[in-house]
Amino acid sequence: MVADALRPHLNKNCSIVVLFPEGIDPHTYRPVPSDIQRLQEADAIVYNGLHLEANMESMFKHLSRSKPCIGLGSFIPTQKLIALDAYSFDPHIWFDIPLFGLAAKMAADSVCKALNPLLFFHNTNYLDSLFELDAALQHQWNQKPESQRILCSVHDAFSYYCRRYKLKQMSLQGVSTAAEFGIYEVDAMVDFMVKNKVKVAFTEAHALTKAMKSIQLGCAQRGHILVLGDPLLTDAPGKKGSPGGSWPGMVIENSAKIHKALNHD
Ligand SMILES: [Zn+2]
Repeated sequence: MVADALRPHLNKNCSIVVLFPEGIDPHTYRPVPSDIQRLQEADAIVYNGLHLEANMESMFKHLSRSKPCIGLGSFIPTQKLIALDAYSFDPHIWFDIPLFGLAAKMAADSVCKALNPLLFFHNTNYLDSLFELDAALQHQWNQKPESQRILCSVHDAFSYYCRRYKLKQMSLQGVSTAAEFGIYEVDAMVDFMVKNKVKVAFTEAHALTKAMKSIQLGCAQRGHILVLGDPLLTDAPGKKGSPGGSWPGMVIENSAKIHKALNHD
């Protein structure tokens, strides 16, 4: 997501190497020796930040002594971030298209100023296209009644999306896929689904379909039919070359899946 958002603001001579393999979970990813070598060879490093790449933070800190090494999240004013507690913020910023797009532009600008200002490519059309996309999604959601604006998924990846398009979010796991959950969380979610008459819930491309099936079963035991929608793309884009295989394509694809499931409701 970071590479896709940065690329439009960089000169074609700039080569971007994406470190994470396709479809991995950034919350739990641990760097392998070849990653460390690539990070050492890079002129600059840009990452999401806000504790998303939890196992790489000490390495980023170390590398920042010798080269620009910046998190996109640091370009977003604190009051626009979603606070988790007094010290930490929700890292899933790529689901707020304008917020992430602007932060990426600022990050590209900052890196280019540090390395060579000629590497920066002034691309206002790109930001305009992001604002148009956001307005289209906004319009699509505005057509839905409030009772349908509930997004239930495995982990809390959609807080920014839900804030942007005024949806209520419910998930099993909290903000990290590394979080434990048990019978209490399952019961609470089943209870929420039944009380709010939620008819659709979503699994995620790389997480815990089984857990969501236990929610479905819990609902069935209370006489409530819950349908599982197509898996959503949360913390990584989909297959390269597919419509959801990039940012912001993954946000468009998710939105389409959610609307499709709600429309068949
Ligand atoms: Zn996540």
